[in-house]
Amino acid sequence: MKLHLTLSSCVRATSKFSKCTKCVDACPEFIQILDNLPTFANNTGVEAAACVGACPTESFSLSGFSTTEFFFTFLESKIRLISPKLNVPCLSVLSVEHLVSLALVSEETITLDMSAYDSESILYEQIDARIEEANFILFSFSDKQLETNMQKIEHKTEEGVSKQDEEEVSSRRSFLGSASLKGVVKHKLTFDEAIEAEELKAFQLDRATIAKIREKNIPDKRKILFTALKRAGVPEVFEVLPEEEVSFISQKFVDDSCTNCQICYRICPTGALSTDGKFSLIHFDAMLCVKCRLCHDVCEPDAIQMQPGFEIKELFEPTQRVLAKFDIKRCNECGNNFTYKGGEQTCPRCLIEEEEAIFLHQNALKMKALLEDKKEDT
Ligand code: SF4
Ligand code: SF4
Ligand code: SF4
Repeated sequence: MKLHLTLSSCVRATSKFSKCTKCVDACPEFIQILDNLPTFANNTGVEAAACVGACPTESFSLSGFSTTEFFFTFLESKIRLISPKLNVPCLSVLSVEHLVSLALVSEETITLDMSAYDSESILYEQIDARIEEANFILFSFSDKQLETNMQKIEHKTEEGVSKQDEEEVSSRRSFLGSASLKGVVKHKLTFDEAIEAEELKAFQLDRATIAKIREKNIPDKRKILFTALKRAGVPEVFEVLPEEEVSFISQKFVDDSCTNCQICYRICPTGALSTDGKFSLIHFDAMLCVKCRLCHDVCEPDAIQMQPGFEIKELFEPTQRVLAKFDIKRCNECGNNFTYKGGEQTCPRCLIEEEEAIFLHQNALKMKALLEDKKEDT
């Protein structure tokens, strides 16, 4: 089993300003950041599986194992044990979203076999933290919980973990296709100009990779979670969880320092941030947010902020919120639209040009006066 990175999905390939280190934090021994991109040795395999479950955009995978396929295969089987000795290369390939979804959709309690891990290791800590987070989230709206087992377990057969025929596999794909969060995505724009050409050149990416980066993609694990939540039933009371306790989704607000530079909503990899045809507002769909923090990393004035609490209601009744509204006017000088902040109806570019023209004109006058003085002296 070999580790694979789909570079076009990594937020670091999208922007040199991205500070995402989730894969490195998960597998510090095997993943490094070099030239702003995650790198690893060619022969890296299952020992770096934790980055598969940690990456918000599903950029990492293991050859021969798909977490999406596993989700469906597991649910169709009779076994309610997830173990590296039985059905996964390592428990760490599963994200918090996978764990929550599995617990929600399964009739019986699922047990995670931790007996293969050294309780002092970083890997154990990683897996344990994800299970704890999943149970914390589940506890806020359901009676489902995941269990762990530290004792050695006798694994008899893989009964029920059978290979699926092609028909079933294709039905799973269409299931995921139908769960494409269509109701949530209202203003999902392509972002052709989202990434500065110069920035992409710095990474020396090929044309096909650049084209892929420009596509907005909702990871399969989010589609799975969305579908699992639909089946869970709406709770009577909605809780608000501390932002720092939820690693995979967030809610945001935008403060007055926003300049409508357009970067965050153009660059957001999933389309959670979007705008209208006139760039006159910032929309936000929390259900599409994977908490990659790219929007925060690229925002120069730090105008986009994480809401301190995550409202569980958002998982069951997703809304599209307006984070900012802008007054778009036509520039009196160049005729282009711009974000009007009061004062003269002139766009910032024309204002700069105007200032530069005044500066050059004054300089020319000074030079002329100097030359005339010199002439008089001689
Ligand atoms: S997006 Fe994924 S692959 Fe890229 S830096 Fe973040 S965790 Fe690593
Ligand atoms: S929130 Fe920040 S990145 Fe987004 S438009 Fe405003 S200033 Fe630009
Ligand atoms: S809204 Fe921000 S944190 Fe959420 S997916 Fe988009 S860029 Fe990432």
